[in-house]
Amino acid sequence: MTPITEEKIASYLARVPSTKRDEPMAKRTSFRVGGNAKLHVTAISSEALIEAVTAALELDVPFYLYGGGSNLLVNDEGYEGVMIQAGNRKTTIHGDRVEVEAGMITGLVARQSVDAGLTGFEWAIGVPGTIGGAVYGNAGCYGGEMKDSVLSVEVFDLNTHERKMLSNSECGFVYRGSTFKHHPYLILSATMQLKPTADIVAGKTRMEEIMKMRKEKQPLDASSAGCAFKNFEFTDESALDILKRSVEVPESMIKNKSVSAGWLIDQVGMMGESVGDAQVSTKHGNFFLNKGKARAQDILALISRVKMKVRDEFGIEMQEEVQLVGF
Ligand SMILES: Cc1cc2nc3c(=O)[nH]c(=O)nc-3n(C[C@H](O)[C@H](O)[C@H](O)COP(=O)(O)OP(=O)(O)OC[C@H]3O[C@@H](n4cnc5c(N)ncnc54)[C@H](O)[C@@H]3O)c2cc1C
Repeated sequence: MTPITEEKIASYLARVPSTKRDEPMAKRTSFRVGGNAKLHVTAISSEALIEAVTAALELDVPFYLYGGGSNLLVNDEGYEGVMIQAGNRKTTIHGDRVEVEAGMITGLVARQSVDAGLTGFEWAIGVPGTIGGAVYGNAGCYGGEMKDSVLSVEVFDLNTHERKMLSNSECGFVYRGSTFKHHPYLILSATMQLKPTADIVAGKTRMEEIMKMRKEKQPLDASSAGCAFKNFEFTDESALDILKRSVEVPESMIKNKSVSAGWLIDQVGMMGESVGDAQVSTKHGNFFLNKGKARAQDILALISRVKMKVRDEFGIEMQEEVQLVGF
């Protein structure tokens, strides 16, 4: 990236005084890799978020919006611009509606909604990161997805500089995707509609079960960004032909029209594969781990090696779920 000038840095610091210089992104991402952000700001209200972004746009300072950093791979060289973190966390529950600002921790929203006598968001208990990040990627697991609960999302449109409300259908939610991946929107908050329940204990039990399953199946004690690749979704079975010629595909995957990326990685024998300190987990094939001193370059090289192997053996082009910053 082109180095940001001292003049621009000074102008940004004057305009957004809470900004820090040379912030190590390794300590702000779940992968624990990445160099310094030249500038970094955590905005603790929606207004402060808008101001941080508007200042960057007006002063022509490159910026990157993020929340919990649990789905990011930041370049070893860092980021030549301002990393703007959503730290707005207000949550209000009115009846069956949960209004939550983008910087709120997703797992806490799951817990608070259960405590308030609501059901439908228990699945999110173990999803790291913020509601903004979850909306952006239509996060999901254990039978739930953001698209099932989101009623509307308030955004700041970076083209028109207006705040506006998008309905669920305007969010364009698809498997691990949304309109936010294609349009320059700053997500400010989301309103979710859940169902009232008298059985709070059932919700708590469900969350405990989910956490137990996660601990059993996922390498949660190591640094990662969760799943590196999206599962392979197919519309007709011809897309599966090469795969079926080589291996027996579980019926459940054929029925769901979705082949698990972790399973594919296991089938090509890449579990445990490593580049430097980056390693494909031996517990879950889609978790790429930083064993301690991995560099972003090692993780990228490993991602690329695994992707090529799956493409060469099964003709399937896997798509990354993790977002790259500063490359
Ligand atoms: C151990 C582990 C388990 C995981 N399990 C799951 C899982 O079960 N299901 C799942 O879906 N994911 C899972 N993930 C991935 C990750 O937690 C989710 O994608 C999460 O929703 C990302 O939220 P975040 O706030 O950390 O986003 P970040 O990593 O901070 O950002 C992700 C993307 O969202 C954008 N973004 C974030 N906030 C905003 C905003 N306010 N406005 C506009 N854009 C924004 C960023 O620009 C970036 O492109 C897991 C990750 C880990 C480490």
